[in-house]
Amino acid sequence: MKQTASLAFLFAVAALAACAQAPAPKPVPCPDPPGYRDTPQLPGQSWKVHDIDRPRPARVTGSVVATPPPSDAIVLFDGKNLDKWNSYRRGQQLDPQWKVEGGIMTVAGRGDLVTKDQFGDLQLHLEWKPGLVKCGQNRGNSGVILMGRYEIQVLESYDNETYADGQAASIYGQFPPLKNATSPANEWNSYDIFFKAPKFEDGKLVSPPVVTVVHNGVLVHHAQAFIGQMAHRIHKAFEPHGPEAPIMLQNHNEPTSFRNIWVRRIGKYDE
Ligand code: MG
Repeated sequence: MKQTASLAFLFAVAALAACAQAPAPKPVPCPDPPGYRDTPQLPGQSWKVHDIDRPRPARVTGSVVATPPPSDAIVLFDGKNLDKWNSYRRGQQLDPQWKVEGGIMTVAGRGDLVTKDQFGDLQLHLEWKPGLVKCGQNRGNSGVILMGRYEIQVLESYDNETYADGQAASIYGQFPPLKNATSPANEWNSYDIFFKAPKFEDGKLVSPPVVTVVHNGVLVHHAQAFIGQMAHRIHKAFEPHGPEAPIMLQNHNEPTSFRNIWVRRIGKYDE
């Protein structure tokens, strides 16, 4: 009798301990590979591109930061139209086909969106909500591609398994975010991106592009240098380009939405 009572006490303690831990969201089962082992080694790192064994970042609960544009910002999307954007698919210019409705724009049709203006060093704010059609790398995939070459990934990564360097806020194919601050699947996220453009001299890289990213108020890259250009399953070296280039939003054929997009050019002290 005494033994039964102490067992019941132990079960009660175990149940209480289980309740004290926040339940981890269950990843959506997915046929997509959650990473690779046959990809090249990343220069300067002990991981391969999209390494299946690379640890997934710890979860942190942030909250969307909906900062209105400062007075000197260039508003790229204010909920009304795509006037600040061109659209391209495989190098061919198209009329932008993304849908604008209810103050948001959503990936639709064909073509990436590419800013008409070009930028070098910048501060960029945007808010996004993933389209939830499939899973893995096809669950709300889009991307903020700085200078058309350097991607900060957009993906549903709250309950969706994929490789660490391809989840939301990763420097795609290079670095996972320091933490996973992704909002629950049907909620908005914010990115605040601070970017220093690379410098090339005589066709050689002199200083790499460097990025700081805040996802939902959580610092997820801290002055991190890119190690090449955006690529899938390979490492792509830098290719020389000019001091300014457009910002691209990726059309990955999933209905991911965006709102409140603005950018500020970063000048120098005493200008
Ligand atoms: Mg992407």
